[in-house]
Amino acid sequence: EKIFSGFSKTRENLAVIDELLLYWNLADTERVLEELEEALLVSDFGPKISVKIVETLRYDILSGKLKSGSEIKEALKRSVLNLLIVKGGKTDLQLGFKKPAVVIVVGVNGGGKTTSLGKLAWRLKNEGVKVLMAAGDTYRAAASEQLEVWAERTGSEIVVAEGDKVKAPSVLSQAVKRGKEEGYDVVLCDTSGRLHTNYSLMEELVACKKAVAKVVSGAPNEILLVLDGTTGLNVLPQAREFNDVVGVTGLILTKLDGSARGGCVVSVVDELGIPVKFVGVGEGVDDLQPFDAEAFVNAIFP
Ligand code: GDP
Repeated sequence: EKIFSGFSKTRENLAVIDELLLYWNLADTERVLEELEEALLVSDFGPKISVKIVETLRYDILSGKLKSGSEIKEALKRSVLNLLIVKGGKTDLQLGFKKPAVVIVVGVNGGGKTTSLGKLAWRLKNEGVKVLMAAGDTYRAAASEQLEVWAERTGSEIVVAEGDKVKAPSVLSQAVKRGKEEGYDVVLCDTSGRLHTNYSLMEELVACKKAVAKVVSGAPNEILLVLDGTTGLNVLPQAREFNDVVGVTGLILTKLDGSARGGCVVSVVDELGIPVKFVGVGEGVDDLQPFDAEAFVNAIFP
């Protein structure tokens, strides 16, 4: 329901598709497809995906496979769903067998990293997983405090930097060591809200990755990139950059309860082949849900 209401603007932009398809006839195909492509572009699907979807539809219409407006609409939904499912791959957390599993959350400032980490801790704890948090956002003074609030709210233990000079890689390394010694199942690591253009911060992320791998070989198990679902197509260059530098294994799409601009996620999944694993639908502990591609597509194309 929250996702459905969050996508009201996207649905408004795409409503024209229903009108077009209601009166579709074969002779009208080119004009209809042109307007359909325009509607997808306006809804942040990006040029590559929009053209790809329309070309597939054109082929299927002209070859006689799609014979009515409703068949075209279903084919459109199916192609978006396939892009999300097939291109993305596994949507559940891959935590491996070694303890502790390490999950690092990355993304630009304000996207919802710390909040998502807190909500993820709550989710895992409710599944009986023993969770330790690591406050790796050592650049923003309030970030550790914010994560401490989440630790308290979710009843989790947390490792924070002791002293101003302690940097993220050593906080993460310390947390994973503690996780190993004290039998934690998962260590959830926050990182700073680095601007993707700030290279030294990107280097630090690489150092974080190496630091945890030194303690548990094969770690981190997941590097989750948090993307603000209200940002639109700007998330694509962000995702590219993070993926190039650290190798992202999954996406968390936040703020889908707000005025979400969902089309962009299809571009990210298609281009980078990274699955959406969770969506954020609010600021409460329960507001992180596993990604449901079908619910997502139905919220965009009812
Ligand atoms: P960070 O800088 O990436 O760690 O971002 P924060 O976790 O501090 O989140 C930034 C703001 O977005 C905070 O006010 C959060 O409460 C809010 N926020 C995060 N996720 C969601 C979400 O899914 N829905 C809504 N409505 N707000 C969110």
